Amino acid sequence: MYNAKAYSASGATSPLASSTIPRRDPTENDVQIDILYCGVCHSDLHQVRNEWSDVMPTVYPCVPGHEIVGRVKVVGSAVSKFKVGDLAAVGCMVDSDGTCPACKEGLEQFCPNFTLTYNFPDQHLGGVTYGGYSDSIVVDEKFVLRVPENLELAGVAPLLCAGITTYSPLRHWGVGPRKKVGIVGLGGLGHMGVKFAHALGAHVVVFTTSPGKSEDALRLGADEVVVSRNEDEMKKHTFSFDFILNAVSADHDINPYLNLLGRDGNLTMVGAPSKPFEIPAFNLIFGRRSISGSPIGGIAETQEMLDFCGEHNITADVEVIPIQKINEAYDRLLKSDVKYRFSIDMASLKSE
Ligand code: NAP
Ligand code: ZN
Repeated sequence: MYNAKAYSASGATSPLASSTIPRRDPTENDVQIDILYCGVCHSDLHQVRNEWSDVMPTVYPCVPGHEIVGRVKVVGSAVSKFKVGDLAAVGCMVDSDGTCPACKEGLEQFCPNFTLTYNFPDQHLGGVTYGGYSDSIVVDEKFVLRVPENLELAGVAPLLCAGITTYSPLRHWGVGPRKKVGIVGLGGLGHMGVKFAHALGAHVVVFTTSPGKSEDALRLGADEVVVSRNEDEMKKHTFSFDFILNAVSADHDINPYLNLLGRDGNLTMVGAPSKPFEIPAFNLIFGRRSISGSPIGGIAETQEMLDFCGEHNITADVEVIPIQKINEAYDRLLKSDVKYRFSIDMASLKSE
């Protein structure tokens, strides 16, 4: 074992603070990565503040972070995909059983025995896994992704969660030319959803509660912007969408969006607000509409997404922050005040 520097929360109401955590020495299949940037996902905030206590209660201390990019420092003797000095990235998962039907199909996100990057039982050291708000991480090479060399790294980090979480359902639901697609919530996930839906050739409509984001939405690739609190603007789109991706973090009513779906339209939740939804049956019956959810994406699809980003020159729009600003960043996330993802420059951890 060795010690890594990290930022951790010691309780649901404590700010994140500098700490030291154990990391395993790399085994033969492991890659040790010096972390350069880690994106700040709203899931980090939900988890740190124990907002998902019913489903995934938080174990403290909690080191969040699952949008990790860095350089390989050490490789185990059996590692074949990476060599020392390569760029490498890690997303939301660091392990799975590799034998279940989901793993065999390359859909590790559905493996009943997967290990998430933080707050999950650590199969090697005991305790729970610690995420990317740290200077270093050790991961089995199967869960380490290759990074296209042409992309700016601070904006690559968020692809590992915000990127794959939006890319995967857009592909699953056949988003492309002649499809009318809505993206609800222009945050970290939402702005990636807009970029991907546009790159896939769809007609993209952004729904936002922040009128000040309209110009940005168009620049990011939207064809139209609707301020969702304006009922008249919403009504103009009744029964017209093929697909709507909902990336809202806060509790809200989704029925106004269901009513915008056309025949056989689907609304997919990627946002994970804590309160249950109330949905009148007729909002689904009329139009044979469906609602579903989607978790991150498998390792093969994550690599496909990164390669797609390399080809189309897509990265997240980021505000780079030092780790010392993380608590302020969380407060700003809650005010929808980020354009459009915080990315932590991990060099800032050196001074701790
Ligand atoms: P984020 O950057 O904070 O963006 C959330 C956006 O939701 C905000 O920018 C805002 O957009 C909108 N919003 C906020 N409060 C709202 C309200 N009261 N009513 C309506 N809209 C509101 O968060 P994120 O990192 O993109 O994450 C979004 C959600 O996805 C979180 O719940 C996160 O946990 C979840 N998530 C799920 C997965 C998965 O695998 N399914 C993966 C990662 C994250 P506007 O200003 O445009 O309205
Ligand atoms: Zn995330």
